[in-house]
Amino acid sequence: MATPPRPSFPVRLTPTASAATRGRMPAVPVKPMVPSTPSMASDAVRARMVQKLAAQGIADARVLRAMGAVERHRFVDSALVNQAYEDTSLPIGLGQTISKPNVVARMIELLLGAPALVGKPQGRLGRVLEIGTGCGYQAAVLNEVASEVYSIERLRGLHERARTNLRHFRLATVHLMLGDGMIGYAKGAPYAGIIAAAGGEAVPEAWIDQLAVGGRIVAPTHSATGGQALVVIDKTLGGLERRILEAVHFVPLKSGIA
Ligand code: SAH
Repeated sequence: MATPPRPSFPVRLTPTASAATRGRMPAVPVKPMVPSTPSMASDAVRARMVQKLAAQGIADARVLRAMGAVERHRFVDSALVNQAYEDTSLPIGLGQTISKPNVVARMIELLLGAPALVGKPQGRLGRVLEIGTGCGYQAAVLNEVASEVYSIERLRGLHERARTNLRHFRLATVHLMLGDGMIGYAKGAPYAGIIAAAGGEAVPEAWIDQLAVGGRIVAPTHSATGGQALVVIDKTLGGLERRILEAVHFVPLKSGIA
């Protein structure tokens, strides 16, 4: 089935003659005050988002570059395009949300701190598993810092939406699967990193089994106080190292496909 083109960004910034120049011929060509194409407009807004992320404490150059490279507005509903670069989570349908840019950047920065990459500030992750493809945005960002991305989604409607969204980018190294991410995806294992976009009671054993030595899991998990917190698990030759970090708010990790 043919899919409608994604909205251009942002519709409001399309250049028009200003009141001052309309009806007059300037002696020299006037450089437009606003970017001349929608894609340039989104580049400028995205660059501001990246500046804000840096000011909020995201320091890893690989993450800032990746956040600047992926056009977030192509992953949200046309009615929300003008909010695509605000630091807010947005609905993506079927009761799910795309995480706010700061959370995506923070989690990927943590993932890049995997033991195998310590001391390699330019290093890339190997194969990464993402649980909860949603609209496909984070998978595209992960693709900027990893050699290959396997992303699994349990809701068919979102799996298909992500496929449509990502088609534009022609990313040969992003693989989308429909399935229950609670059991991971053994065929792609072992993974250099596993990142979850949905929070469960605990980190499933399958993820730990499918993690490479030197790899890291970053996942929201229920905390003792009833909320959710980010959990980081490193697999080293000496065993597992687990840390609980800041409180977060993710949609629930659910089993089965729907
Ligand atoms: N990374 C996504 C965020 C999506 S929200 C993005 O960039 O848009 C989290 C997603 O996790 C939801 O789409 C939800 O359906 C999915 N999810 C929840 N439990 C899951 C499971 N067991 N396996 C796979 N996906 C799951």
